[in-house]
Amino acid sequence: MTNTKELSETEKKVFEAIEKNDVILLKTLLPELENPNVMDENSMTPLQHAAYKGNKEIVQLLLDHGSDVNLCEHQHNYTALHFAGLSGNPAVCISLLLAGAKAQVTNSVGRTPCQMAGFVGNNNCVDAINHFVPREDVDYYLTHEPLLPPILAGKFHSFIMQSSVHPVRVVFNLQKYIGLSSHLEEVKAILMAMRDKEMKKGPEVNEVMAFKFHYLACLVGEIIALKKKQTEGEGKKKTMDTVDLFTRNMLKPNKEGELEFMDNLLKEYIKDFSYRESMIFRQMVTSLTNESATSTLNVIKIALNGNMSFFNSSQGCATCGEPDKNYVKKCAKCKSVIYCDKNCQRMHWHWHKRECDRLQNDATLSEKNAPDASELSAELQKVLIDTKNEGQ
Ligand SMILES: [Zn+2]
Ligand SMILES: [Zn+2]
Repeated sequence: MTNTKELSETEKKVFEAIEKNDVILLKTLLPELENPNVMDENSMTPLQHAAYKGNKEIVQLLLDHGSDVNLCEHQHNYTALHFAGLSGNPAVCISLLLAGAKAQVTNSVGRTPCQMAGFVGNNNCVDAINHFVPREDVDYYLTHEPLLPPILAGKFHSFIMQSSVHPVRVVFNLQKYIGLSSHLEEVKAILMAMRDKEMKKGPEVNEVMAFKFHYLACLVGEIIALKKKQTEGEGKKKTMDTVDLFTRNMLKPNKEGELEFMDNLLKEYIKDFSYRESMIFRQMVTSLTNESATSTLNVIKIALNGNMSFFNSSQGCATCGEPDKNYVKKCAKCKSVIYCDKNCQRMHWHWHKRECDRLQNDATLSEKNAPDASELSAELQKVLIDTKNEGQ
């Protein structure tokens, strides 16, 4: 469907400002824009253009100015959320979802925004859409038991929408959003209540979300137990930072270098999920009993994020499992482990220092063996030939 209505000067300028990501100009234009849902010749609204550009600030300005988040006259039935999924900016997806964007709408080829994002490889947008929780689901606990302290509402909301699965990263986020000094009992109780509420939704149930709430509750419970142990205990562990101690436990390798402690703990979490008849529980148990069983962490990752994210994050930070980023740090000595930042590197050192030398040797060895003749420099080849001739 094309729109043949002539645009006013202001309307034209609004579309231009969005095209150029000109926030300042747009701010001066918006008070004069009478219809925030005006459509250009392709029946696209300013909001849809801004979403496609992936500009969060402009998207928010337009939403605040009254743009209809679900309006869709576009010829291929793309909504603003479809465009946001294509943009690759997960923050734009969240802004639109918070404004009430429907995630289940399909375009003319039957694809949801999430599917379109996945189709073009924007997995961060896929995660943002899949892990979205409406704010009212959280605000419910401001007035219902177990009560959520109002000061935590926004932070708790951010915490439960994370797509990270690695226990260390989840606990980093717990500290970042909620802090470890208080309210952990409430946080755990609400997560469990949300899990049970989700499982009782009948045909509307989102088992992935329910298991995720359960998983987060288990990890929060772990921190509560660890803190209790620390207050009761003695020695160095008593005064250690709880997150440091938790991370050290999680990353403790067995004799084979496997993370057996973490693996067993995560298995317990799956066992503790009491909805045994659910698809997600059966799927995880099947994967765990499979002969070619992968780690329990990967089983949970696949259950929560699907296969795609799992493959992309297989080579992540050695401490918290975050997927590769451009700014990763590498161990300068062995160069065989990568980290998000200095903090992740520091936390891994307790275990890594024991194998760093060996890894360094392995790396040097494979370097020595690696290049074949075709890769050797011309000069080196000449030396080799000379040596050979001398021997004859
Ligand atoms: Zn990390
Ligand atoms: Zn190293």
